[in-house]
Amino acid sequence: MSLLGTSGRPLRVAIVGSGPSGFYAAEALLKAGIEVQADIFERLPSPYGLVRYGVAPDHSRIKSITKVFERIAVRPNVGYFGNVEVGKDITVAELQQFYDAALFASGAASDRRLNIPGEDLPGSHTATEFVAWYNGHPDFKDRVFDLSQEVAVVIGQGNVAVDVCRILCRTVDELRTTDIAQHALDALASSHVREVHMIGRRGPVQAKFAQIEIKELGEMAGCTPLVAPADLELEPCSRAELDHPDNTSAVRIYSILQEYGANRPEAGKQRLNIAFRRSPTEIRGADRVKSILLEKNRLEVEPMDVKAVGTGEIEELACGLVFRSVGYRGTPFPGLPFDTKTGTIPNIGGRITDGGKVLPGLFVSGWIRRGPSGTIGTNKPDSQETVAAIIADSVNWSGCENPSGAAVLKFLNTRGVRVVTFPDWQRIDAAEVERGRAAGKPREKFLTPSAMLDSLVDSPVR
Ligand code: NAP
Repeated sequence: MSLLGTSGRPLRVAIVGSGPSGFYAAEALLKAGIEVQADIFERLPSPYGLVRYGVAPDHSRIKSITKVFERIAVRPNVGYFGNVEVGKDITVAELQQFYDAALFASGAASDRRLNIPGEDLPGSHTATEFVAWYNGHPDFKDRVFDLSQEVAVVIGQGNVAVDVCRILCRTVDELRTTDIAQHALDALASSHVREVHMIGRRGPVQAKFAQIEIKELGEMAGCTPLVAPADLELEPCSRAELDHPDNTSAVRIYSILQEYGANRPEAGKQRLNIAFRRSPTEIRGADRVKSILLEKNRLEVEPMDVKAVGTGEIEELACGLVFRSVGYRGTPFPGLPFDTKTGTIPNIGGRITDGGKVLPGLFVSGWIRRGPSGTIGTNKPDSQETVAAIIADSVNWSGCENPSGAAVLKFLNTRGVRVVTFPDWQRIDAAEVERGRAAGKPREKFLTPSAMLDSLVDSPVR
């Protein structure tokens, strides 16, 4: 019988990644009914992953989930090791010397590709880049988007595509008091983008965006959302989907789109055209994006799904910017198996597997486990399931070699790593809030890890 999980020897779990799935895993460990030490490792000094760098700046209510995460982080048996890159500063095998289990919650940092000619032309970007840029992510702060263009095309109709459209279409006054990075606010202030097209390959009934997101597009001060009436016509399979009693959200979304179908372009306003049943086949231009070819689709019913099938009819849409928003994708984690087909770490119920065999002590949760789907809250049951697997397995473990937090710190010190603790982060946080105050923003983010660390030199210890 294992002694792990007792007050004499708490179960030690390293959580890699401080986004929602990492924090929900820490919370589930705290509620597991045994003694635990949950240490969260994060590559950047700043925590919260996609909540800080993915959620749109004008969605401050969604960002307030960080208050919940903060309450978890300050618990005595939760540690925060910011500015530590697992896989580089410390390998997975090294981490396992100090922890009984390691749970990987590293998210999905890359994107799916369209695999069409011209995809990499200057002016064609992933939504990921744009989102991370306007959110002040250190890896993306220097990206340049040519906002002198008048027409932008956003491919995809998920909630990320809606975020991108909204940020392109909002007035500067609507964004000024958000936590948008100042460089992005300045660039958007002189944007010439007048027309944005959000293109979906399937129909209005199959669109992935949420009702609240699509409704918000109609509430922007300087932009009118439009849908061509022909795009709102429903083929029998879509009509049947809409009539299904479980599909109430699609009914509401469709009725909002019908309102946009009745809109007339308003003079002086930006336009957001929402178009359906079109797939990009090529992005054209000699040295930069000049247009995009879209093939019209018809819909075919498949078991459990409705699929877009090309009709061969192509239309060319002149544009100067393309944002590909067709889903995130996980990237391989050094030292762990990876499924290149799904972009996830292979696992059974959260237990990492290699060739179908469970790797003891290694676990996964969130987008890197199941793929990039669902809202922030979807990660909660996901992480709870993985933590239940950890607790169940731990009864058979004898424990790691060196179960000491001080030993981890010493190890990282010898590697020259400046570990950012949670109290350190709280001081960085306070400094960011202070920087934003003068401009009436909730915060002005530091744009580099070194700027975050520098802020610690002068800021008071709390
Ligand atoms: P998503 O919801 O999976 O949407 C991806 C979109 O790309 C879909 O419209 C999809 O069309 C389209 N697509 C995929 N491959 C394509 C291709 N080859 N050609 C043309 N279109 C293609 O992904 P996401 O928008 O990146 O969002 C990721 C997750 O984060 C989602 O669960 C989303 O709800 C969540 N999120 C939530 C919020 C919020 O709650 N406010 C905000 C942002 C993100 P099909 O439907 O035909 O596949």
